[in-house]
Amino acid sequence: MEKINLKGLLLPELQQVMLDSGEKKFRAQQVYSWIYKSGLTSFDQMTDLPVGSRSHFSEIFRISSLKEVFRAESMDGTTKFLWELEDGNKIESVLIPDDKRLTACVSSQVGCALGCTFCATGKMGLTRNLSAGEIYDQVLQMNQWALAKRGQSITNIVFMGMGEPMMNLDNVVKSVKLISDATGVAISQRRITISTAGVAHKIKELADLGLNAKLAVSLHSAVSAKRNTIMPINKGTDLAELVKAIQYYTRSTGQRVTYEYVLFNQFNDNPEDAEALVKICRMAPSKVNIILFNPVAGAEFQRVTNDRLNHFVQYLADRHITVMVRQSRGQDIDAACGQLATKKQKAESAIQ
Ligand code: SF4
Repeated sequence: MEKINLKGLLLPELQQVMLDSGEKKFRAQQVYSWIYKSGLTSFDQMTDLPVGSRSHFSEIFRISSLKEVFRAESMDGTTKFLWELEDGNKIESVLIPDDKRLTACVSSQVGCALGCTFCATGKMGLTRNLSAGEIYDQVLQMNQWALAKRGQSITNIVFMGMGEPMMNLDNVVKSVKLISDATGVAISQRRITISTAGVAHKIKELADLGLNAKLAVSLHSAVSAKRNTIMPINKGTDLAELVKAIQYYTRSTGQRVTYEYVLFNQFNDNPEDAEALVKICRMAPSKVNIILFNPVAGAEFQRVTNDRLNHFVQYLADRHITVMVRQSRGQDIDAACGQLATKKQKAESAIQ
């Protein structure tokens, strides 16, 4: 009989599993704490369980774990992790220190089906969704590493690693519940950001779930014809539909949305691009994060010049749009999503 994997189960699910296996319900809270707080993967180490329960659990349950296969630390403190999943697939996560914050950027899928032209993950295609346990494990293991190495816990989570979180919404939501649970890494939902390339119907679904997590939309162009050329999703869900979903989200949750906007030199950094962005920003409570592009191998785009960046930002600021510029982090370690996994994949196929 296949063992049941406990990592990824919420407490009520774990309680049910315990009852189904003939154990007392309260054992679930003990095991839950060992899995999500201590990060144990062996029942033998769960010292507050009777010896009989430990061996019973080892026979019928298992606790999956990501295997760290590579870690790279940037000069700026950004640290990238490459994990191997139980089926041999690989995913990435990144830890980004910034003043008092320590942000973990996590993956939600192996690869991604959306094929944004500027993204290394998009070039891989989609292999599969990550389970809630696989998402949680990225946070848990990075948190343990950060505590041991820097004496600091993760303060913020962004779902901006490999994959489109909205295409794996059930598991992403479950992982948000695990991450924000008081037993575990206990990071408030207000410090968790779920990003999307613009899956409109899923944005509405998320709005109805009553989470406190924040929403970020990777816009990158507010001109539909231009957005079509870099984000194929825009052909199926045009900007008007996306904006309607965002308006629904901001109305239902009372939160504003963050527009992520990677500036590509002489592509989406012209005055008419800034004007179109201002129009969209005025349609719902929002702010803009301008991101400086980390060119990926074979990319057709270049990083924006300082002059063009300043003009673009000033245009928005003059029109009272809240705008922040985010520097690319970890450029020396290929920190943009999918870069490391793609390189590893290429290296492995070269070896085989
Ligand atoms: S940018 Fe995000 S949505 Fe687009 S291909 Fe990359 S991972 Fe997928």
